[in-house]
Amino acid sequence: MIKPEILVRSCELPDCPNRRGLLRALLEPQSGYMLEGRWYCSPECFEHAATTAIQKLIASMGRPPAKPHRVPLGLLMLSQGLVDDEQLKKALRAQKDSGGGRVGEWLRHIGAVSEEQVTQILGLQYSAAVFPLERSKRYLECADMVPFRLLEAAEMIPVHHLPASRHLYVAFGDRINHSALFALEKMLMCRTEPCLVVKSLMQRALEELRKRPHDMGILAAGVTDPQEMAGTILDHAETHAAADVRISGFDGYIWVRVLFPPSHTDLLFQTRKTPPIVS
Ligand SMILES: [Zn+2]
Repeated sequence: MIKPEILVRSCELPDCPNRRGLLRALLEPQSGYMLEGRWYCSPECFEHAATTAIQKLIASMGRPPAKPHRVPLGLLMLSQGLVDDEQLKKALRAQKDSGGGRVGEWLRHIGAVSEEQVTQILGLQYSAAVFPLERSKRYLECADMVPFRLLEAAEMIPVHHLPASRHLYVAFGDRINHSALFALEKMLMCRTEPCLVVKSLMQRALEELRKRPHDMGILAAGVTDPQEMAGTILDHAETHAAADVRISGFDGYIWVRVLFPPSHTDLLFQTRKTPPIVS
């Protein structure tokens, strides 16, 4: 015999005021709201859960990233025989004197290495492949999977999608953004494989995408309070009778996907500007 409690859904909000939404679920089985695959009995419970999710996300975005355990780029170039001691010292001095910039960029600036060599060494540093963006235009087909505003913010492009195995190859110009990859995996329900591309090719590809019709996502400018964000999300979820809502974020953006299959809409909120990480 099936137990009666599994015939009805119960609200996922731990302190749901509606007796965990049981009565509502019984009376109106089609009612309620989905967030991250969980059911909430009322707009209030949904808003509460969305607010908590956004607060947690903002807190995690504010934490400094874990220190990368990577061999420094300059040292790798030295060990590969691409630069000598003198050139590396000169680049490091220039980096120090200018107060910033990446070592690879400074080595390029003094003419010690080419842009392609910097990308090759970055690939070695991250243990990631270098994607031949100059030979593949597949990114034109898959760039629309992510709002263009986010691609620009993280300087990344999805370059190859394998729908059958749900694999997405994502290219970066000079640093692999793991927060962005984590968000993509959650929002697109796929596995991501990072790769690197020559930075100028990345910039050219982003420029090309900018000129084409693209989905920027709806930017809710000026909405910065988590509760207010949750209210905006609820409005969109109700307008589209959403089947589910997913929340993620990186680089100062909260990215919300309101799903109403076969379509969806992306909402973006800005939390703060993240300074670029220099190594
Ligand atoms: Zn509830």
